[in-house]
This record gives sequence, C-alpha cells and structure tokens, in this order.
Amino acid sequence: MKIHEYQGRELLAGAGIPVPAGAMVRSVDDAVARAAELFEAGSARVVIKAQVHAGGRGKAGFVTLVSSTGEARDAAKFMLSNRMVSPQTPPEGLDVKRLLVAAAVDIAAEYYLAITVDRSRNTNTMIASAEGGVEIEAVAERSPDAIKKVPMHPLLGLQPHQARSLAFALGFTGKQVGQAVKIMLKLATLFLETDASLAEINPLIVTPPGDGAPDGRVLAIDAKFSFDDNALFRHARIGEMFDPSEENAAELRAKNFGLSYIALDGNIGCLVNGAGLAMSTMDIIKLHGGEPANFLDVGGSATDEAVAEAFRIILGDDVQAILVNIFGGIMQCDKIARAIVAAAKEVGFTVPLVVRLEGTNVAEARRVLDEARAEIPTMVVATDLADAAKKVCAAASVTA
Ligand code: GDP
Ligand code: MG
Repeated sequence: MKIHEYQGRELLAGAGIPVPAGAMVRSVDDAVARAAELFEAGSARVVIKAQVHAGGRGKAGFVTLVSSTGEARDAAKFMLSNRMVSPQTPPEGLDVKRLLVAAAVDIAAEYYLAITVDRSRNTNTMIASAEGGVEIEAVAERSPDAIKKVPMHPLLGLQPHQARSLAFALGFTGKQVGQAVKIMLKLATLFLETDASLAEINPLIVTPPGDGAPDGRVLAIDAKFSFDDNALFRHARIGEMFDPSEENAAELRAKNFGLSYIALDGNIGCLVNGAGLAMSTMDIIKLHGGEPANFLDVGGSATDEAVAEAFRIILGDDVQAILVNIFGGIMQCDKIARAIVAAAKEVGFTVPLVVRLEGTNVAEARRVLDEARAEIPTMVVATDLADAAKKVCAAASVTA
C-alpha cells in the first residue's frame, strides 16, 4: 500500500525527523488560507505540491514555490484542474484531488536517502546519494557509484557506525553529520516498525548556514512510503491512510471480493485459480502468440458472486477472448462451471470463451457446461491447457 507525501511527512515527523510545517487541502480556497497562515507565521516562501501516488512532480510543474497568496491561488488552481503527467504516471496522467501546502525552505544541497528490500541480498538496504533531487534515476543510470548501499542487519537494523560511515561518505561535514546520522537511524527504525517496503526521502536537504546553525540544518522535504499489505493488520493507523481514489478501480473491485486482479496490455482475459497457475497460463498464452489483457485469480474458495464479479471485471477490460483455466483442488470445477453459466446469464458473453477445467468434480462440471451450450454460444471447451491456449489465441487474433 502506498500513501501520500503529506501522510509520509506525518510519519517522519512522528519519528522525530525534521520536516517543514505543512497541511493537506482539497480546494483552492483552503490552499490560499493555509498559505496565508504560513506567510503570517514568517515563511518567506510556501511550496504547493500535488498529492498523487507518483513521483516526478517537480519536473511536471506540480511542485511550485510561491511568494504571495495570489501565486498560491494560481498554483493550486492549476494543479487541481489539470492532470499530472510524469514518467511515473500512466500516459493519460493522474487526477489531482489533494494538495500539500508547506513552508518552503532554502536549499544548499539535496541528498537522496531511502530504505528498501534488496531481494538479491535478502536484506533491507539503506540507499543514499549526494546527488539527490529530481534526477536520481538518471544518476543511478549514469554513475551508479554515486549511489551508496548499506545492508541492514535483519534483527539489529541499521547500526550507528554504519550511519556515521554513510554520512561521511555522502560528504556531510561539521554539525550536519550528527543530524544526518540521527535521521538515518530514525528512518531505519520507522521502516522496521511500520513493516514498510519503501521509505524514501528525496530530497533530504541541507539549508544554507544561518543563525544558530552554522553548518545549516538537515531536513526532509519529500516523503514516499510503501507498506507490506500482509502486515497492515497490525498497523491500523497506517491502514487508515489508504486512499482508494488513487488505486486502479478494477483492482479495487477485485480486492473487495477477495480476488487478485492484475491489468496487463494484451487482449485475452484470463480467469484462473492460484498464482502459479496464473503464471503458467500467461506463459502458455505467450508461447502460442497471444497477449494476456489481465489475469484474475479467484483463489481457492470464491463464491458465485465473486466469480460473476470476476467476469464483469475481465469484460470491463475490453478483451477479445477469455480463457478460463481452473485446476480444481480446493476449488471444485462444478462450482466454477455453475458460476460461468450464472455469469453468462447475468453478464452475457459476446466474446469467445475458452474453458479448461481439470480436477475435483470435473465430470460434473463438463455436464453442467454441456447443458448450457445453448445459453453460451461463444463457449469452447478445451481438452487440455495447450489446446485451450491455441483456441483462445486463435479466437483473439480473429476478432482483434
Ligand atoms: P518530486 O519531484 O515529485 O519528487 O517532488 P519533490 O517534493 O521532491 O520536489 C521536487 C523538487 O522541488 C525538489 O527536488 C526541490 O528542488 C524543489 N523543492 C521542493 N520543495 C522545495 C522547497 O521548500 N524549497 C526549495 N527551494 N525547493 C523545493
Ligand atoms: Mg522528490
């Protein structure tokens, strides 16, 4: 699960990591009111930032520094009435419904600091660079040596000596070192305590030298978090941060029925049970020259309503053909067969439907489908998986 920047900043601040003051708003008027408060409280500049589950906002014009309430109004109006398009969004962009209005800070240097799971090393890993900011992907590509990686101990987390070495390696000097080390250690603890899969501060900044801070102050001015969905049951506070409007609508519908759905780019809809069978179904479709439009895993215990919803979701993707590939272990084939018939009546299949069922109660399932042939004229029953793949690919390429 992803959260918004303003929520990530709350987590950072709660963990004792310094973050400039700010507030989330949903309207232009509220943005102006918040900006006015920040100006009155002494901020020379305020930053208005689109809150969407994608980065690249700075370059897309959805992070704007303003010096007056008039400029704040223009920026907020622009962001709330235009879709944000960046390399991290779909081509049509994302609708912006929330903004962060925060005190802007002067920046002497921008760093990158993150923690994620390094699967090749089986460890959580702190990743940092002295070349932080909006070009971090380019830095990783151009000069990978500029990105430092520090593996974290599975039980002890980030060790203070590791944080100190990293702070020096990044070039922090004087009083910045202690501040950076504290931030690194606090971020590591926060990452572990929240079962995060990503905690990213980009940029972590140093302000120019000022009163009481001869070496500047180290602050987080962006925050990006993802959490392990399987651990959310023990983090009610984070679960509440879920924003359904940022999720793929079809994936959300599937989730509500206990189904796992993934949208892909092709034109063959796939209804399967089990992730492993989903993978082999994708493979065999591709082997026969087809492209999956999605896969929907109904799991081992889907209800009739869930299966009907599964077909509605698959058909919503504008598919040219559907492959049902069920191996009845816990899931009984006849149950799927009846659900197909029920869904056909309710949803109506206009595209070819290729069905391959094997396993528990398969004979009864075949009988149910046989009886329903007249009701589902586009249905083809396959004898095995290869046969099913050939038939569905042929059907999809004819209608495509
Ligand atoms: P992102 O592009 O979606 O990652 O959005 P960020 O929050 O990282 O902002 C992008 C860039 O805008 C940063 O790298 C900064 O250079 C700049 N920026 C953001 N907030 C401030 C601020 O308070 N002051 C200044 N001077 N620049 C800022
Ligand atoms: Mg950023």
